[in-house]
Amino acid sequence: MDVRRRLRVRGSVQGVGFRPFVYRHAVALGLAGFVGNDDAGVVIEVEGSAAAVDELRRIVAESPPPLSRVTSVEWEAALGPAGDTGPFRIEESAGSGAASVPVVVDTATCAACLAEMDDPADRRFRYPFTNCTDCGPRYTIVERVPYDRATTTMARFRMCAACQAEYDDPGNRRFHAQPNACPDCGPHVTWRDPAGAALAERDDALAAALSALAAGGIVAVKGLGGYHLAVDATDGGAVTELRRRKHRDEKPFAVMVATLEDAAATCLLDEAARAALCSVRRPIVLAARRTGSPVAEAVAPGLGEFGLVLPYTPLHHLLLRGAARPLVMTSGNLTDDPIAHDDADAVERLGPLCDGLLTHDRPIHIRCDDSVVRVRDGRRQTLRRSRGLAPERMALPAPARRPVLAGGAELKSTVAVAKDDWLAPSHHIGDLEHLAAYRAFLQATDHLTALYGVRPAVVAHDLHPEYLSTKWALDTDLEPWPVQHHHAHVASCLVEHGRTEPVIGIAFDGLGLGPDGTLWGGELLVADLTGYERAGHLRAVALPGAGAAIREPWRMALAWAHAAGGHDMAAGLAARLDPGTGAGAGAVLSLLEAPGASMRWTSSAGRLFDAVAAIVGLRGRVTYEGQAAVELEGLAARAPAATAPSFPVSISAKDGMLVVDPAPMVAALMGVRAAGAEPAALAAGFHRWMAEAAVEAAVAVAAQRGLDAVALTGGVFQNALLTAWVADGLRRAGLAVLLHDQVPPNDGGISVGQAAVAALADKPTP
Ligand code: ZN
Ligand code: ZN
Ligand code: FE
Repeated sequence: MDVRRRLRVRGSVQGVGFRPFVYRHAVALGLAGFVGNDDAGVVIEVEGSAAAVDELRRIVAESPPPLSRVTSVEWEAALGPAGDTGPFRIEESAGSGAASVPVVVDTATCAACLAEMDDPADRRFRYPFTNCTDCGPRYTIVERVPYDRATTTMARFRMCAACQAEYDDPGNRRFHAQPNACPDCGPHVTWRDPAGAALAERDDALAAALSALAAGGIVAVKGLGGYHLAVDATDGGAVTELRRRKHRDEKPFAVMVATLEDAAATCLLDEAARAALCSVRRPIVLAARRTGSPVAEAVAPGLGEFGLVLPYTPLHHLLLRGAARPLVMTSGNLTDDPIAHDDADAVERLGPLCDGLLTHDRPIHIRCDDSVVRVRDGRRQTLRRSRGLAPERMALPAPARRPVLAGGAELKSTVAVAKDDWLAPSHHIGDLEHLAAYRAFLQATDHLTALYGVRPAVVAHDLHPEYLSTKWALDTDLEPWPVQHHHAHVASCLVEHGRTEPVIGIAFDGLGLGPDGTLWGGELLVADLTGYERAGHLRAVALPGAGAAIREPWRMALAWAHAAGGHDMAAGLAARLDPGTGAGAGAVLSLLEAPGASMRWTSSAGRLFDAVAAIVGLRGRVTYEGQAAVELEGLAARAPAATAPSFPVSISAKDGMLVVDPAPMVAALMGVRAAGAEPAALAAGFHRWMAEAAVEAAVAVAAQRGLDAVALTGGVFQNALLTAWVADGLRRAGLAVLLHDQVPPNDGGISVGQAAVAALADKPTP
């Protein structure tokens, strides 16, 4: 007895190969009916035996296509059998128009495609551009909507008869796979010398690149979202040479390994880390190094972890297998410029840095750096949301009152759009202080609004008037919507948790301008998605030399020593500072003695980390933002817990505002240090103090305001040790803890918070 039923599938189910997936299974189960998209998702009407109909439902619910995110599968109607025995059909999309179909992310090569590449009898044997509906390039090749072959950078390649037949066959896994290609009709690789002259094609090009790598050479490799610079990761000399040419002193490089087994030989991987490494989104995964790893120390000097990534394009697979060793795969750029993605630009910018370029003729429309996640104690944290994750939509916890474009902050820039019941953050753009990054920022805002068909009514921006993103926002014709930096951080965490009720937000980060003109960064806010109130903060101290204070943590050390013990303590510290600071220390001391009206004041937790790193003797200067804090965490993690001194927590309340004063801690720390305590123990003691102070202050605010949940956000919470200690303390006090997962806690997440606040609030918070 046949039945006919209608099944409704909700979630991210469009543009991810859902209809052909349903088609193939329905045909295999001998079902009649159709599958189609509509505004609510995917609708499936099936007729056949009850067992087959149930089996289709089970497959859809339990093993949907890899890129989809199914939130519900429901029977919508039991219909009388219509006597439909004809072939199962895919209905063309109706109604709403292409702009409502979400843009899909770039996805790692699937197992079926890899198997073809490994099969000498297959027509795609060793073909570096093999892809299908479940895998391959998407966002990085889309020029405009609707998403179709003609609107991608694959338009220039005319499919051969065999490829076209796959593309047209709903039963084929390449049905409507827009980047479909083969060796006869698709892109191919070319080996070029540093001046851009083509020296070899196809397999010969790959062989030439492999011999250059084997000889310790540096090779620029064109990937999905841009060029990487590759070098043998086990060759310390070659890695050091790459650092020299890239002008990158100490910032760690990512390493690509061929297989999960190779990854496990290099780092300690728990289940969550393995899952992150193998996910189709293929981020770089930061994990603790294994001793005796073959990877050279120069890859991540002084750090306890490596960033690993598995191959995510067919070309990477061929390269890694051929090299038979881990390869450094770092962004193809000089220091902090945006990653090169245009071929002519790559030759110009990367030619001088490399010994040859392995390029190809499929253009990259949008540059997209690798995503970065850290997995610690089974918990994942996204540090950079980019290739494989962007520009995927996230649900807004409430319907948008207006469409929004959000400009983000300044460092680790991203932009975002919001509309209806969702928002979409862009890929990672970089630090806007670089002109090239600012151009990429302009391109990203245009591209994101066009792809999603968003016509913003307002533009959300930071309060800081000097951020290029703020200047840009105030220059548009759109209504400006200021969102305070740390409110945006807290809001970004609330979006992840789908929470509209107020929480206490502990926002610890570098610097973000507050409405009072001081630079905030050690904040306790009572906030929801529509507004906030400052409930507490770290005591503010002088920020001697603004930008220089960020690059030279010794300046913050003097500022805190001065706050803790006046002239004598600061002068005592100055005397034992790195002699490299020279006369600078004297000048800073005079500034601290008589701070003029131009002195900036900051309550930043990140700058306090810098100060402590300098006081314990770790470093007085940094070569990249956050370096001192990262190393202080590494140092603290090495100290046995029992050896960590405990420091006094001082919290006072003034007009209902809590102020956490680090000065007594700083004084005590300097005393213990003078008495000969180990730097590692001091670092651990400082982490413990920070955690205790944060918990005590949050618990006080919770009691005062009757709140039960705390969001931990801001770049300082990239620190796994601090996060764990603060979260433990809050939970012990009976408070719920909201942590970041998909959205970076650093400024890469600011656009998400801005977009949500400007979409949901009545009016801007003054
Ligand atoms: Zn595939
Ligand atoms: Zn072909
Ligand atoms: Fe921030």
